[in-house]
Amino acid sequence: ESGAVLFQAHGRLDAAQIGRAIGERLLQLTGDETLAGALRRLGDRADDATLKDAAMRRTPYFCAGCPHNTSTQVPDGSRALAGIGCHYMAQWMDRETATFTQMGGEGASWIGEAPFTSTDHVFQNIGDGTYFHSGLLAIRACVGAQVNITYKILYNDAVAMTGGQSVDGPMDVMRISRQVHAEGVSEIAVVTDDPQKYPPDADWAPGVRIYHRDLLARVQREMREVLGTSVIIYDQTCAAEKRRRRRRGLMETPNERLFINEAVCEGCGDCGTQSNCVALVPVETDLGRKRAIDQSACNLDYSCNKGFCPSFVSVIGSTKKKPVPSADSVNLQSNETLASVETGIEKPYSIILTGVGGTGVVTIGAIVGMAAHVARMGCSVLDMAGLAQKGGAVTSHIILTPQPDEMTATHIADGGSDLLLGCDVVSAAAQETRIKLSSQTTSVVNTHKMMTGDFTRDPDQKFPLDELLEDIRSTSGRVSTVPATELAKRVFAEPLTANLIMLGYAYQCEALPIPHEAIEKAIELNGRDVDTNLAAFRLGRKTAADTAEANAPLGRLGANPDVSSERLEEELLTRRRDLLHESHGPEVAAQLSDWVSRARHSIDACYHDVLIPPLIESAFRVLYQKDEYEVARLYTAPEFRKSLSEEFDGRFKLRVHLAPPLLSRMDPESGRPRMRSFGPWVFTVFKVLSALRWARGKWFDPFRFSEEKVLQKKFQADFQRT
Ligand code: SF4
Ligand code: SF4
Repeated sequence: ESGAVLFQAHGRLDAAQIGRAIGERLLQLTGDETLAGALRRLGDRADDATLKDAAMRRTPYFCAGCPHNTSTQVPDGSRALAGIGCHYMAQWMDRETATFTQMGGEGASWIGEAPFTSTDHVFQNIGDGTYFHSGLLAIRACVGAQVNITYKILYNDAVAMTGGQSVDGPMDVMRISRQVHAEGVSEIAVVTDDPQKYPPDADWAPGVRIYHRDLLARVQREMREVLGTSVIIYDQTCAAEKRRRRRRGLMETPNERLFINEAVCEGCGDCGTQSNCVALVPVETDLGRKRAIDQSACNLDYSCNKGFCPSFVSVIGSTKKKPVPSADSVNLQSNETLASVETGIEKPYSIILTGVGGTGVVTIGAIVGMAAHVARMGCSVLDMAGLAQKGGAVTSHIILTPQPDEMTATHIADGGSDLLLGCDVVSAAAQETRIKLSSQTTSVVNTHKMMTGDFTRDPDQKFPLDELLEDIRSTSGRVSTVPATELAKRVFAEPLTANLIMLGYAYQCEALPIPHEAIEKAIELNGRDVDTNLAAFRLGRKTAADTAEANAPLGRLGANPDVSSERLEEELLTRRRDLLHESHGPEVAAQLSDWVSRARHSIDACYHDVLIPPLIESAFRVLYQKDEYEVARLYTAPEFRKSLSEEFDGRFKLRVHLAPPLLSRMDPESGRPRMRSFGPWVFTVFKVLSALRWARGKWFDPFRFSEEKVLQKKFQADFQRT
């Protein structure tokens, strides 16, 4: 008509865009009021162009203990090419890994690139399923083209990306070695987490060398010098598959668990760097951010303990403690006290449901679908999961209609969502979710701060809850926030019940127009943890109806706003002074008081609020030494035993991992002192050392000349002068 673009040639084309283009023209011809109203509603949706990126993004990540956390590492000075499979995600993990091909084309692109680049060699990751499907042909092509490439065949014993199916065809590590040898590969190495597992008569190809995975960097450095096509077979079973096999009794569960002594932890994040593991979670404490292992998520890979950290303890022979629910604190047996809610619809009703893969979001969609069916409504549930089972975002488009035969679409149009059920605030605030919202949308959002995989590489990552909620508010109508995961943990000792709490909350807010009897019936038909899930649904309803009663299990939240800044400052000083007194003695504690009082005298009172608290923290850090005596004290403190008993049941033995300066040698691979593991007797040594802490710095203190101590003395002198 006017030469303007009607539909752009790239990006999404959805029903709303087409509807607007046709509707506007029909309106010019007919002037129809109903059509005008419909077009206004379509125009009221969020516009792609105005939606900025959310403050945080939930990208899929390797599972806890995943073999790819180690196998996709690349030595300094090299780069790798990605391929089809979970290992594809290495591309967003700072691993010098970029570009991928179609399945089976892995490495073929290098044949074309190699003659035109100054890079001599690349690593090519390829999954075992892809290798068997067609990847062997690409290896053959590289051998034929005589390019310098090292294939890393990632043998994880399962088709992990699609849920752990077994790999097609007869395949094992020995057979792969013989196949690639027959293709003319110049060198073959096997790297594994357990070199002892192969039988002595294993039928390897000639010349195959076998290494422990701790030597992967060295093997890769050697392989990149080999001319032609070489192969590393990285053999370690998929972590998710191991978990499944252990649950079904098909694989032995190791009797060792790792535990982080929170008091010893300095929050440096090196365990995340070493392991890339998402089971390492932040713990916010009075002394700053520390780390803990989420024992429910941990898949017992132990690579977080590869660094140089005295906080790690092996707990041997224990069982993970089952959390104790406290559901009795709120009456959840019936719906008696709850006001009834208007339900039923006269036109289609759209719900966008978002959450994190593996936390039961798809089940919630299925429950809503079944509830609609029970209520004789129409319902379509469209799950968009992608790589979501690896901790990524899951989105379900749920459309309800008054009658089953009135369903005309399965995909929610932009701006077309009536309810956003955000079981995870990060995926709820994502651009692709917000595009579905409008001022007509009611949003119910879980405020739980679940870190993304980026936390493994960014130890200081902040969780931008306020910004994420603001992003949602800017595109939605009414927004309700629910501390659903915290409630789920406190009341049911099971975080996965949070989604049912969310469902109950949305229902009681009149944002989920299905009768509660039908929803409860659907929960029963789902058949898993029926009583707990029913109670969680009712708790959600109660939270919406009477926040005070339902939130009682959470206790008092937030700081008391009436406390003056002087009192907070004094309390901080007291806490830090007490800790120094306990750990380093009265003289050091008095030194802190002295520095602070001198600062108070010399700094104008109007700046005290701003300057004194950070000064207390800095002075404390300069005086406090987490040296051999202090680590010993922290390991003998009653709080350590208490924290262990909160996580583990049964009689267990402890092994502590340390690198004592007088006993440890340097590890040539890592350039760090080699960690050694000490049995239960070390606690007697800790007791003695802890009792001798008064000797710190005296002429007979054997540790007084260590590099750290000398540096600390210098810091203290500098601080004193300043
Ligand atoms: S490496 Fe050790 S000190 Fe650093 S964050 Fe991990 S547990 Fe804490
Ligand atoms: S042992 Fe450590 S690296 Fe392994 S799964 Fe558990 S937390 Fe992750």
